[in-house]
Amino acid sequence: MELTPVDLLPHFKTVGSDLYTRGMVSMHGGNLSFKQETSLCITRSGSRLGYLEESDLIVTGVDQDDENTPRASSELAVHRAIYTKTPFAAIVHCHPVHATALSINRDKIFPQDEAGKIFIPTVPVIGFGREPVPGAFADEVAEALKTSAVVLVHKHGSFARGMTLEEAYVMTELLEISSHILYMLETMKP
Ligand SMILES: [Zn+2]
Repeated sequence: MELTPVDLLPHFKTVGSDLYTRGMVSMHGGNLSFKQETSLCITRSGSRLGYLEESDLIVTGVDQDDENTPRASSELAVHRAIYTKTPFAAIVHCHPVHATALSINRDKIFPQDEAGKIFIPTVPVIGFGREPVPGAFADEVAEALKTSAVVLVHKHGSFARGMTLEEAYVMTELLEISSHILYMLETMKP
């Protein structure tokens, strides 16, 4: 079966729009992908996640370049590493404000709210203390996603995985809610 952007578009559109309206990406930030067998479908470099169209979905190889590869998101290397090292089929990468803020001064996040404790008890911060660049820490992010549903990259944002884009979105949203609560707890300290 071939990956066809027209079939995937409703899922990309829903998740992209939710991320944008929820304030978890800026206009041209973040990227989404879905894998099937040896192909992946990823958002175009510079696309607007809140307003995705069929032409924003780029199909290329999981481990092989082709004529579409240059138009793929600048984080393609990270998505490829995750699909190579894990059994998951969907990835959501974005820049949730509170979670990204926490990634600046700690190397792990421990949610304190009930849902966070159950679904994402420990969220590692990859590349802590090093300078992030697009596509960096691909192997470390992939390795960490074997056991954590969502991880952060220091000073940058989150990568979440699942079997569907919606599932990866849910993990991303849980992280941002837990991070917002942690932030509030710290600012409420006497
Ligand atoms: Zn990013």
